[in-house]
Amino acid sequence: MSNDTNNTRGSNGRRVGTLRRAVVTAAALALTGTAAFAVLAERGAGQPAGAAGAAGGKTAGASTTIDPALPAPTVDMAIVRESEDDGKSVNLTLDDGPDPRWTQKALELLKRYKAKAVFCLTGPNAAAHPDLVRRIVAEGHRLCDHSVSHDVAMDKKPVSYQEKEILDAKRMIDEASGGERIWYYRAPGGAFTAQSRQIAAAHGMRNLGWNVDPGDFRQPGADTIVRTVKDQLSTGPTVLLHDGGGNRAQTMEALERLLLWFVEERYVFSFPKAG
Ligand SMILES: [Zn+2]
Repeated sequence: MSNDTNNTRGSNGRRVGTLRRAVVTAAALALTGTAAFAVLAERGAGQPAGAAGAAGGKTAGASTTIDPALPAPTVDMAIVRESEDDGKSVNLTLDDGPDPRWTQKALELLKRYKAKAVFCLTGPNAAAHPDLVRRIVAEGHRLCDHSVSHDVAMDKKPVSYQEKEILDAKRMIDEASGGERIWYYRAPGGAFTAQSRQIAAAHGMRNLGWNVDPGDFRQPGADTIVRTVKDQLSTGPTVLLHDGGGNRAQTMEALERLLLWFVEERYVFSFPKAG
């Protein structure tokens, strides 16, 4: 879809951040009549292709123009879903931790299958479990800022609120990790805006979406989680799972079965592009 095409074009590891390029992109969208679609697709920030339109209706994140009142991006501010590795790859992402029980379990499973993942941490959880934050990094995984309050309506709130949610969480994760790189920002519920994407990108964090959402948060059963991931992987490599926010026993059971399947199917465990 057009929005993905746009994202792909800006995410080949090149540093972006020039006002000229952003304006040209916005103008191109308007000229080709795809701006309205981009509005819908943007709201479906992290969601599978095809689901984006259904999730439409919010317009705040649609602009691709850089706001001169905010700091300039140092990485591409487009939402990324594609892998750093070519070919048959999967990007595992685990949200809402760290959690003493489930994050430990996830780390054990990932180690056993020599897999890697992005951990999207809320600030308070990171502050409460710095040992887990350090272990995530030490075991080769990547950190992602998942805000302070996990407010899935933050795209309706003032920019100053969004900025505080993102940067306060970043500070809390920085303190917990000892200043390790935070590679990504993922808005809770995919509630990105143009401004929140720019704020994250100005602090070196790539905005992280997803392709595959098995709804593990709602605990549909491990079978459903496994089947949905396998079914949706044809839409893209980035898989949304959770290691916090409740009882994640089903997710961990599904994760183990999926890891075995990924290995058998010769998937490469990759990361979303971060440049
Ligand atoms: Zn979340």
